[in-house]
Amino acid sequence: MSIKQLDDAYVASTYRRFPVEIVSGKGSVLTGADGREYIDMGSGIGVTAFGVADDAWQAAVTAQLSRVQHTSNLYYTEPCARLAQMLCERTGMKKVFFSNSGAEANECAIKAARKYASERKGTDCATVVTFKNSFHGRTLTTLAATGQDSFHRLYQPLTPGFCHIDPHAGGIYELEALCARTPVAAVLFECVQGEGGVVPVDGGFLREMAAFCKERDILIMVDEVQTGNGRTGALYSYMNFGLTPDVVSTAKGLGGGLPLGATLLGEKVEDVFAPGDHGSTFGGNPVCCAGAISVLERLDDAFLAAVRQKSRRLCERLAASKGIESVTGLGLMLGLKTVRPAADVVAGCIEKGVLCLTAKDKVRLLPALNIPDDLLMQAADTIVSVCEEGL
Ligand SMILES: *Cc1c(COP(=O)(O)O)cnc(C)c1O
Repeated sequence: MSIKQLDDAYVASTYRRFPVEIVSGKGSVLTGADGREYIDMGSGIGVTAFGVADDAWQAAVTAQLSRVQHTSNLYYTEPCARLAQMLCERTGMKKVFFSNSGAEANECAIKAARKYASERKGTDCATVVTFKNSFHGRTLTTLAATGQDSFHRLYQPLTPGFCHIDPHAGGIYELEALCARTPVAAVLFECVQGEGGVVPVDGGFLREMAAFCKERDILIMVDEVQTGNGRTGALYSYMNFGLTPDVVSTAKGLGGGLPLGATLLGEKVEDVFAPGDHGSTFGGNPVCCAGAISVLERLDDAFLAAVRQKSRRLCERLAASKGIESVTGLGLMLGLKTVRPAADVVAGCIEKGVLCLTAKDKVRLLPALNIPDDLLMQAADTIVSVCEEGL
């Protein structure tokens, strides 16, 4: 049987895969089983921040791999402690809980909010407010947090205690009205809604909401799973908006390709957890943390400026196409409203050697942050030509 046939036969059919088998790669070029090369404009959904088989990342990971690959959280390891220090020093947050995925990072944020609020405001203060059209993960609790009904249908009953407000129209009044009805522990939101179609939320609204929450001791929790770790041209996307969150969750690009989630706890909640309150067997794995250190230490001001520069060039090229109606997003997280259906554009791009993603009805681009300019513009030309086919 071919790999495709084996996979179709034995792997749970939760994914609609493209007919491409990836066997290797270097940087932003992936190689298929048939020897074909592809420019990677998806980076494994924003995960391989420095591309595939990046030298520095690979060296950091293999060095740790040859020392000790896992210890459990009963013992200290250097990569875990050093990564936590880096994350705190770069954000002003105070402590970090490590896990293995975005959903788990959000679960930890929600647990922190529930415990903080119940201790300060009483056990009935459990509601976490999220945004309509948001995406926060696939566990039953993070599905409940996700503000899209289509994700809720199959798995009732979900974890109670979530309300969704519209961040685009009258959201602050909605939040006010909600707070009058029910005690609210926290708000949890993406600054740019990724799975929701690469939709940036209005900065004015976010700041107004943050001020409202600060006054009422409602925790401000930012889901930086997709937007974090340099993706938007800032280290974390909230930094573009002048926000000071109490909790930040992140994952995807943090490990550079290995599973790693992190929940950053600010001053208010730094000591919310006591030993035994929360945990993870794999969380803070030293190999994953060593990879993350090599990612994070390269995300300095000059590098982030280069990300913004790449973004400007890419946006300019795409926005000039008659096949593309709009370009939304921030940094190297872009959504294209195309004249042709997004799925047709992605399929056409694969045929021409470029791998792109979709998000709702958009074509979504999340290239590696260090994609060379020539590859980036070559991919942009291909995308534009596919978008204009038949027009
Ligand atoms: C991908 C994503 C998640 C879920 O991350 P997993 O690692 O798949 O659990 C949560 N929030 C946002 C914003 C995401 O983009």
